[in-house]
Amino acid sequence: MSLNTQILIAAILGVAFGFFLNLYPETSFFDGSIYGLSIASSIFIGLLKLLLIPLIFSSIVVGVSNLQSGGQLSRTWKITLACCVTTTTLALILGLTCAHIFQVGKGVDIALFQDAMAQHQTPDTLTPSSFFTNFIQNTLINPFKAFAEGNVLAVVVFALMVGVALVKGGEKFNTVRNLSQQFFEIMMLMIGWVMKLAPIGIFALLAKLIATEDISVINRLVEFAVVVTGTTIFHGAVVLPLLLWIFGKMSPWTFFKGTRTALITAFATSSSSATMPLSMKCAQENLGVRPQTAGFVIPLGTQLNMDGTALYEAAAALFIANLMGLDLTLGQQLIVCATAMIASLGAPGIPSAGMVTMIMVLQSVGLPAEAIAILIPIDRLLDTVRTVVNVQGDMMISVVVDRYTKPDDAVLNTPSSS
Ligand code: ASP
Repeated sequence: MSLNTQILIAAILGVAFGFFLNLYPETSFFDGSIYGLSIASSIFIGLLKLLLIPLIFSSIVVGVSNLQSGGQLSRTWKITLACCVTTTTLALILGLTCAHIFQVGKGVDIALFQDAMAQHQTPDTLTPSSFFTNFIQNTLINPFKAFAEGNVLAVVVFALMVGVALVKGGEKFNTVRNLSQQFFEIMMLMIGWVMKLAPIGIFALLAKLIATEDISVINRLVEFAVVVTGTTIFHGAVVLPLLLWIFGKMSPWTFFKGTRTALITAFATSSSSATMPLSMKCAQENLGVRPQTAGFVIPLGTQLNMDGTALYEAAAALFIANLMGLDLTLGQQLIVCATAMIASLGAPGIPSAGMVTMIMVLQSVGLPAEAIAILIPIDRLLDTVRTVVNVQGDMMISVVVDRYTKPDDAVLNTPSSS
């Protein structure tokens, strides 16, 4: 049985086992099972995280130095940036439009949520300018501190600089270049080992999620949850595949078939960072993205490109405004879009990161930060789908960028994989 099939079966069994466990709450069977599932899922996530920082560092150093020496770095980053901005903008427009069409939050009684909001500790004000200052202060730091703390963005910046310096230094740095290349290959080999554990890890993560989350809380916010999830799925199943087909000349079938391991892992972990090692492997080995492109675009996209998060934040801001009986003007909605875009750039790829940066989006149009207390109970569940779309966007962009940075004749001759 192929690994992909094993993972699919494990995901289905994990969900089923989670529901089964729900039938025996507060029993020793339940507690013992949760303990076992926690250990299995921690081992899987721990191994992915263990590889994350060395992988990001080596892949960017190798990717940048190969791109730079081939004269493709400038073109690669420009196309990457254009793709990130385009897909995120489309996600924001989609999120706001659907929230408008379905009038999420209108008619819901805010009194239902007064307790949750009153108990919620109001976080410090998060304005775009303070967010920006923090962003810079947390990014330009001692690289050893960044490695030790797992600060992805700071490692990305340092790796970009090392990659460019390696090329500027020319021949004399060949030893370090070769060393980085071999180190990167070692990381990819180790990811292959971790992937073998994916069926067990995904089974454990999903069973634990279903068994421990209070799924009934969705009832109160069912309309919002359905609209956000449906819109996010539409973005991932229609908008992104269409762009991939037009610009990447790849059929959705080829894409989904090649990336399902990473997508299911994103769903189970709700973390694009933890999924990154698998996204990189899928993009290179199953979608045929050149290692230098995947090594540059995927780590960068993991940090900066989050369509699912942007869409969620825009829709949630409108939901909260409707709930409070406020009509946001067009200008305010544009502010929501701009801050949601910054918030999705700055959100780390970890579970519920979008919830934290959403404070900034709410405050940008004068909505109270405590209002996130309304969404917190269902966030972990909604996070699953938006993380899938975040990860999907990164792999998709790597395909498009790779196509447009190949030598001209290769682009013209790229066969459609459909
Ligand atoms: N969990 C998401 C991710 O890792 C971030 C978010 O909370 O929206 O991509």
